[in-house]
Amino acid sequence: MIRCISSPAEPSIVTQTAIRTAAPEQRSSCAAELDDLRPGSPISRELALRLIRCSDTDLPALIGAARAAKENFKPGVISYSRKVFLPLTNLCRDYCGYCTFRRDPGEPGAHTLTPEEVLTVARAGEKLGCTEALFSLGDKPELLFPEMRNTLRHLGYKSTLHYLEGMCELVLRETSLLPHPNPGLLSAEWIARLAAFSPSMGLMLETTNRALLAPGAAHDNAPDKVPNKRLRTIEEAGKQGVPFTTGLLIGIGETPNDRVETVLAVRDLHERYGHIQEVIVQNFRAKPTIPMAHVPEPGLGEMLRTVAVTRLLMPNVNIQAPPNLIAPYYEELLDAGINDWGGVSPLTPDYINPEKPWPHLEQLRLLTEGKGFQLRQRLPVYPEFLPALMSRPGLLAEKLHTARDSENLAREKRAA
Ligand code: SF4
Repeated sequence: MIRCISSPAEPSIVTQTAIRTAAPEQRSSCAAELDDLRPGSPISRELALRLIRCSDTDLPALIGAARAAKENFKPGVISYSRKVFLPLTNLCRDYCGYCTFRRDPGEPGAHTLTPEEVLTVARAGEKLGCTEALFSLGDKPELLFPEMRNTLRHLGYKSTLHYLEGMCELVLRETSLLPHPNPGLLSAEWIARLAAFSPSMGLMLETTNRALLAPGAAHDNAPDKVPNKRLRTIEEAGKQGVPFTTGLLIGIGETPNDRVETVLAVRDLHERYGHIQEVIVQNFRAKPTIPMAHVPEPGLGEMLRTVAVTRLLMPNVNIQAPPNLIAPYYEELLDAGINDWGGVSPLTPDYINPEKPWPHLEQLRLLTEGKGFQLRQRLPVYPEFLPALMSRPGLLAEKLHTARDSENLAREKRAA
């Protein structure tokens, strides 16, 4: 049986595996190969496929190697982005089996933010020291729903992407927040248009397994979740040099091997274009209202293996896992090689997982420091990608100059 992350039985295995070292006579060839890793060198596909299924006996060696790789990459620091979450519209033309965010028009909770609402939330976040305006929204709802076409007409925009572009520009001009849009599939033209007002953007690849598009599977009736289409968007962002966030969603019907293949697809694009600023490893959480309500959640052991293997496949890329979806096993994730907690909001709920509140920032700081790391606030774009963005003249570069500190992290602002 797959164990649930929230199962009270979990800590025994995880806390033990995180701190225990297998006796020499128990060490397998996997563990021995990990001993021979060169710092900063990615592991092979073959080793990753073995490690993702490693035994509990080998798990401490895997975790130890992943944590060492993280320390080689960014020693002593864990970052996060202080954000406001702006659900621009929760109408969506897709019907993913795990989604609680989407609504049809007229359903309770269906809503498209007005420009006034966008600015009100952004300004409130500004007062709390936020630097990221995360725009999350359904994918092209106007293609399915005449109601969305009417809403957009009233707002004065031709499409959801035109509206998103307008709101990114509004937030950039009127506040100190930096937009990070997550609008789904994008053409080359739309990546360029949004990049004018956003230092980074994102699209979860989720999985490269096409079988999840089959009837009854997680991506049945989700035309925007075709893996090749998502890879094309990520590749186009690479061609344009746009710092890009992507990642895996685990526990939606894919196999451990699929997880490795998904990371390898991201790694391949990053090797060609160098633009992947962050890989998110997100775990599926079951909720009573979704079609996948009875699908078992991935166990903590699966999550740790996936995070650690992702770190070893991409040792010099930022790896994050959302803390609210793993609570209370924060320390285990730090052991498994993440170097970032992702976006954490002191103001807005996680509209994608509203039943899982983000930890209080002070709590996050204390537990991060308890593991021997300093917690630092970053911008929605990671420090290593800032110099290229700031070399291009314009409003975005000006705002970045103001928002960053000497290490290209977030300049400290006193929250009002
Ligand atoms: S996960 Fe995204 S694309 Fe899928 S239904 Fe929800 S909002 Fe739409």
